[in-house]
Amino acid sequence: MPPGGRNGGPGGHYMSEEEKAAQPKITAKLIKRVFSYLLPYWKQLILVLVCIIVSSVFTLMPSVLTGLIIDEGILGKNLKLLIFFIVLSLVVSFLANLIGVAESYINVWIAQHITFDMRNQMYKHLQHMSQRFFTTNNQGDIITRMTSDIDGVESVVTNTFRSILSNSITLIVALVAMFQKNWILALLGIAVIPLFIIPTRKAGKTRWTLTKDAQEANDEVNGVLNETLSVSGQLLVKLFGKEKEEYDRYENINKKMVRLNIKERMAGRWFFMLLNTVTNIGPMALYLVGGILIMQYDSSITVGDITVLVALLGKTYMPVNSLLNIQVDWMRAMALFNRIFEYFDMPVEIENPKDAITPKKVTGRVEFQHVDFSYDEERQILHDVSFRLESGKSMAIVGPSGSGKSTMINLIPRLYDVTGGRIFFDGVNVKNMDLALLRKNVGVVSQETYLFNGTIRENLRYAKPDATEEEMLNACKKANIMDFIEKQEKGLDTVVGNRGLKLSGGEKQRISIARVLLKNPALLIFDEATSALDSISESRIQEAIEPIIKERTSILIAHRLSTILAADRIYVLKDGRIVEQGNHKELVALGGVYTELYETQFKAVQGGDDGGAGDGAGDGADGGGNGA
Ligand code: ATP
Repeated sequence: MPPGGRNGGPGGHYMSEEEKAAQPKITAKLIKRVFSYLLPYWKQLILVLVCIIVSSVFTLMPSVLTGLIIDEGILGKNLKLLIFFIVLSLVVSFLANLIGVAESYINVWIAQHITFDMRNQMYKHLQHMSQRFFTTNNQGDIITRMTSDIDGVESVVTNTFRSILSNSITLIVALVAMFQKNWILALLGIAVIPLFIIPTRKAGKTRWTLTKDAQEANDEVNGVLNETLSVSGQLLVKLFGKEKEEYDRYENINKKMVRLNIKERMAGRWFFMLLNTVTNIGPMALYLVGGILIMQYDSSITVGDITVLVALLGKTYMPVNSLLNIQVDWMRAMALFNRIFEYFDMPVEIENPKDAITPKKVTGRVEFQHVDFSYDEERQILHDVSFRLESGKSMAIVGPSGSGKSTMINLIPRLYDVTGGRIFFDGVNVKNMDLALLRKNVGVVSQETYLFNGTIRENLRYAKPDATEEEMLNACKKANIMDFIEKQEKGLDTVVGNRGLKLSGGEKQRISIARVLLKNPALLIFDEATSALDSISESRIQEAIEPIIKERTSILIAHRLSTILAADRIYVLKDGRIVEQGNHKELVALGGVYTELYETQFKAVQGGDDGGAGDGAGDGADGGGNGA
């Protein structure tokens, strides 16, 4: 969604689409689904219902008692009865409030538990979403669904649902009491109610549109914050001197929010003005007609009765108003649920297969058979890629930037699934293999090393929670990072900073190598950083990598001659096809893509790192010979 933001806010077209999407179709299925979240708490819900009924009756009782206070107490000149009804009235109203507190507690408890369930379910679901989901969706949007949308559900349960229940009950009880007193006056009181409907409808519609716009603006704000206040985002902003532009962009959205919020509040204000006027008509009509009835027809009606009816009528306005208004809240609630369900309904693209195969021993053998792949319908990235990597052997993939090297290796641990052909891991089609086992046995050291904010120890233990001190130190030694750790005052307890940004690129890579070694996968994939590391860093990584790949099956995405030469066999990828393969000597002799890469890239890189690459060349040529 960032483009929307970049274009200076959601344009007409974009919004109207969103509008359509946000307007929920309230189907029986949707409602059933919403209620399925309430079902586990049916006992508590019944308790809430009982509380609401009792407290509604208790709330209305003082109004009825007013009649007795006037007729029996004051007009009847009976002090004892007067005091009795007054005390009773106070006690009942105290009890009503007390029950209200209990009811709020249970209500909040239910709401919190429902959102707890939902949050967990959502988090779990998102964890199973594919890489595609995370690369395609805006991070701000994902976070909003996890946070404010689900928080919204809480308010739906504590406000909307509760309001529907308690207002309906209060209204029914009040109406019954009114009709019992005097049906003529009761009908008269009700006659005013239709006057509410028009302003309520109008205000409701306005609020609905405004709320939606506000929600959209909120998503946008989250998007901007996420993009620009993250570590890498900030870095980009600083380096490109975009502070002012980003500030302006933020200020614009912020301004929009202010406008929307003012509009929303004001929509409510006009509505209340109209409402208050209408509210005053009812009681006056009752006094008038009631007065006429007493004076002209000498009916059985008393002054107390009229007072009670006016009081009860007053109690019906709030529920009627709320219930008319609830349509908006209800729509909003359903839209909220819809947004959440939309995420829940996104199919889990990559799942553990039924009857997953769990091989006893995994050696890391990989075979690609005519693999095709595309991220989207527009462009095919890999074309008919076939190769076989025997266990214990290593292969290098080289090729121009964007040729599909990273894509190729992402298919092995099933970050994506192939669109054509098949991939075998230890002779089993990866689609049939137990997903956890597969991923456990594929270790990737990626170009962009990601470390969590924590200590080196915590980051290492991410791979193996029960790793002993010795195992960790061993891995660090193998990864050539031990000297760095020893130099740190706190050793393994050194904090790496947000995403490991307190460390250099080379140090991070070596720690991530140590981490993958602790994981001890059957297949090791090393995506060599294209970014320039200094030659010392580079040779330290090189020294770490070479012995490791000698002892296990490995795939190297290589940009440096020394890495290429360390592999048993080299595959050259261009525009998603394997165009050449062989060992270094053979490939150079071909005079094709590899030769060109060698002349333009590898040689130049090698120049900065004489010693290491020179040795490597000798070893590698042999290795390549064997492999071929
Ligand atoms: P480099 O050496 O620069 O890392 P590479 O050979 O590893 O490049 P890939 O990262 O595999 O190349 O990308 C291959 C092609 O796929 C590129 O054209 C890229 O634009 C496209 N691509 C990569 N990731 C995605 C994605 N998540 N969605 C859509 N297209 C993508």
